[in-house]
Amino acid sequence: MAVRHAGVFTHLSDLLALRDGTLLASSGSGISRFDGTTWTTHAYPEWWTMCRRRSGMFQSVDGSIWFNFEEEEAQPAQLILNQTERFRTIRHRAETTPPDTRITLHLKRVAQPGNTHISWSAHDPWGDSPSEEIQYSWRLNDEEWSAYSHDTSRTFLNLPSGSHALEVRARDRSFNVDPVPDRIVFTVIPPIWVQTWFIALFASFSALIVVLVWLYVRARERHLLEQQRAREEHLKEVDQMKTSFFTNISHELRTPVTLISGPLKRLLETESDEQKRTLLSMALRNATRVWTLATQLLDFRRLEQGQMEVVPVYGHVAPHVSETVGLFQEMARTNRVECRFVCEEEFEGWFVPETLKKIVQNLVGNAIKYTAPDGEVTTVLSDTVVAGERMLMLAVEDTGSGIAPEYLPRIFDRFYRIPEESIVDGSGIGLNLTKELVDLLGGSLQAESPIHDDPSRPGARFTVMLPLDGSAPGEDEERRGRDDG
Ligand code: ADP
Repeated sequence: MAVRHAGVFTHLSDLLALRDGTLLASSGSGISRFDGTTWTTHAYPEWWTMCRRRSGMFQSVDGSIWFNFEEEEAQPAQLILNQTERFRTIRHRAETTPPDTRITLHLKRVAQPGNTHISWSAHDPWGDSPSEEIQYSWRLNDEEWSAYSHDTSRTFLNLPSGSHALEVRARDRSFNVDPVPDRIVFTVIPPIWVQTWFIALFASFSALIVVLVWLYVRARERHLLEQQRAREEHLKEVDQMKTSFFTNISHELRTPVTLISGPLKRLLETESDEQKRTLLSMALRNATRVWTLATQLLDFRRLEQGQMEVVPVYGHVAPHVSETVGLFQEMARTNRVECRFVCEEEFEGWFVPETLKKIVQNLVGNAIKYTAPDGEVTTVLSDTVVAGERMLMLAVEDTGSGIAPEYLPRIFDRFYRIPEESIVDGSGIGLNLTKELVDLLGGSLQAESPIHDDPSRPGARFTVMLPLDGSAPGEDEERRGRDDG
């Protein structure tokens, strides 16, 4: 049998199992002790070597260990109880004071990536065990104790973040273990991105950025809104300026145009020469156009300023409409358009004659204007009931060029003219004025096109619905007057 002793295998002379469970092995190189995990070489002074056959070890009941040597190999003993000519015996009583362990070097706070070096040492009170013979065992975070070794330091690598506890205990040559291991607690600082202050800072920073972005977006939206408002305001101003300019001009125009129309009418009545009559009619027609335009612009002004007079009357509606359509017969004849008025059944109701006439004028005038020669314009008047309310229904339809679907939603806009129609004279205010007048009376105005299957004459239909039961402003007084009468 061979025993590993200080790195060298030498012949074993004796083995002794001690009561504390450890094992003594003696050889020519010294006596070693085995605790079940590690071998401790030089467990006893180095000169206690036992190479001869008659050497041996024993443990007596009081725990003392007896070492027997042959004479020539024995050195002077400290305690020699039995000396014969050839043998010496040493009775060894182990001292029982354990060493005192101290952790000498460590950091309390360990930075990432959690590597730390910790050193320790121990003091044997009686100096029985030289410091290099003292062994140490350690454990981290209450895990298993490590095997005893002579290492007096250790580098721990990649420790996880958080708090850690390290305990170290020392054992002397007599296997007395320090009953109170030294203990230290240290912290591995977590990575910066999981530290509370960093998270708080990051959250605040993110929140700040969000707030700044939000403020920027809001400021930008406000700015755009203000710009848009300013633009709208400006457009409104321009619109108002335009209207008021035209209004003033219109006002100035109406008097001279009236003065031109009067003599022209008188001349037409007396003139028999056909050529002169044609010229006079043309002059009168254009004077009337100027007068109508001037009146329309003045109406705008009145509408905008809320000065449009709306006085409903009760009576037959058809005569008023028929008379207005009749005014367009001359124009229709010139354009070679047949202009008809249809009212199958007379009816009475509350209506505002002046405003209704203006509505009819605009719709019939447009219908004739946008209908090619040999076409037809029909104005149909009737009363009807919608959702329990009696309504006046006026439909002006023609066989003209019609209105393409993409333009239909815009024809009621002020100054809007369909591009293709710009060859026909116009100002783009007639339908807008008509719509505003209809709105003022609490009614509705709708346009449809095409209304005929013939693609060369698709035509258009404008339908006006107005309340007949007196929902227009001023109705109460009028109704009361009628009821009293
Ligand atoms: P305008 O002075 O140009 O006639 P309006 O406001 O009366 O202005 O009409 C707006 C546009 O609607 C016209 O330019 C025209 O293109 C179109 N429109 C109006 N009435 C008719 C109709 N009966 N048939 C075809 N197009 C029409």
